[in-house]
Amino acid sequence: MAKYWNEEIECMSREDMTALQNEKLVKQVRHVWDNVPYYKKLMKEKGVTPDDIKSIDDLHKLPFLKKDDLRECYPYGLLAVPLKDCVRIQSTSGTTGKRVVAFYTQHDVDLWEDCCARAITAAGGTSEDVCQVAYGYGLFTGGAGLHGGSHKVGCLTLPMSSGNTERQIQFMRDLGSTILCCTPSYAAYIGETLKEMGLTPDDINLKAGIFGAEPWTEEMRQEIEKSLGLKAYDIFGLTETSGPGVAFECCEQNGMHINEDHFIAEIIDPDTGEVLPEGTKGELVFTSLDKEAFPLLRYRTRDICVLSKGKCSCGRTLIKMTKPMGRSDDMLIIKGVNVFPSQIETVLLKDFNATPNYQIVVDRVGNSDTFEIKVELTEDMHTDTIKSIELLEKKLSADIKQILGIKAKITLCEPKSIPRSEGKAVRVIDKRKVYNN
Ligand code: ADP
Ligand code: ZN
Repeated sequence: MAKYWNEEIECMSREDMTALQNEKLVKQVRHVWDNVPYYKKLMKEKGVTPDDIKSIDDLHKLPFLKKDDLRECYPYGLLAVPLKDCVRIQSTSGTTGKRVVAFYTQHDVDLWEDCCARAITAAGGTSEDVCQVAYGYGLFTGGAGLHGGSHKVGCLTLPMSSGNTERQIQFMRDLGSTILCCTPSYAAYIGETLKEMGLTPDDINLKAGIFGAEPWTEEMRQEIEKSLGLKAYDIFGLTETSGPGVAFECCEQNGMHINEDHFIAEIIDPDTGEVLPEGTKGELVFTSLDKEAFPLLRYRTRDICVLSKGKCSCGRTLIKMTKPMGRSDDMLIIKGVNVFPSQIETVLLKDFNATPNYQIVVDRVGNSDTFEIKVELTEDMHTDTIKSIELLEKKLSADIKQILGIKAKITLCEPKSIPRSEGKAVRVIDKRKVYNN
């Protein structure tokens, strides 16, 4: 069984990878300078020209691009090739505000699909596999990316898109799907539905899942692995850098390898913009080295994670990023304390055997924040009396306080009362904000 999709690149020595990145960066900066007036202006404002960029050591001299720049440039302002050379448009799912559109030449689509093929291969996929793609198809990059990668690997591809969960399971059984690609929250929902249909993982043939597009915890991984009887691999990406496949997990299931031949990753201090040393937590910044149509340099993702270069037992030398715990803009500030939904997920799933169905409701009454966590009751929680429910709520509240330092009102609710997600889950309802997208 092939272990790597592109062994030469995935296992390349650091020296060779640096040389490759140096060469590509110099070319890419020139391409952007020549073709994207908006970025040229940013470079001029910072007093830097392509002549100043001789290697990746000079990367820090380049200006950052932010999501606001993309919005300002909507739709064509960052395009670096004539529109007639583009063959595809994809768009962000709009989780945080107005959509962003990204353009692809055929070369860009190939490169992206190739990254997804690396991810599928790392999860054990080969041409023998039946790959069920249950990410949404359409403008969202999830469906298109994994679909293309699955074709490249030669899997029998089931372009299911998301939704119609019983039909997903029916096809999974009839066609013996071995790999499932979807968001982790949808995978959890499929697992729940399987059980409700009176079936167990023995009734399906899945061996691997490739789940990403939203933050998910280790506890969620274990829950999904159990409910679907598979090994769950993380995959990371964003529309701005092509889509899923920028980074992917290997058999170690311990962080995602970044496809460094196409993307340079940096970690910066989100407040000062200063580049932080390897191993420090901060905001992930990507520079795309090969993209023709939409080549973003130093794009600030707002995703918070850590990079590490250590050797991986899978043999890959590509740098690894930890699971992002969420975007800086997913972070809630409640009663002055920083809260990531993933911290709450860990407590619920690890200590309380809760299902991954929860919702965080934040509001403001007078001058103070209110913080409520709604959790669905399960049979395992043994809550047959009012007293036992109260006890559980108290215990949960105490555990949350220990982790976050603030108190939350816990509301245990009926099974199935929190909406399920077929795409990216909505975990937070922040009534303090007035959205004006
Ligand atoms: P949107 O910004 O509308 O959500 P995208 O669909 O392009 O648009 O989503 C990209 C974002 O999704 C990333 O910036 C990141 O925050 C999140 N994401 C993608 N994959 C993962 C993952 N494996 N773990 C955590 N977050 C992820
Ligand atoms: Zn590895």
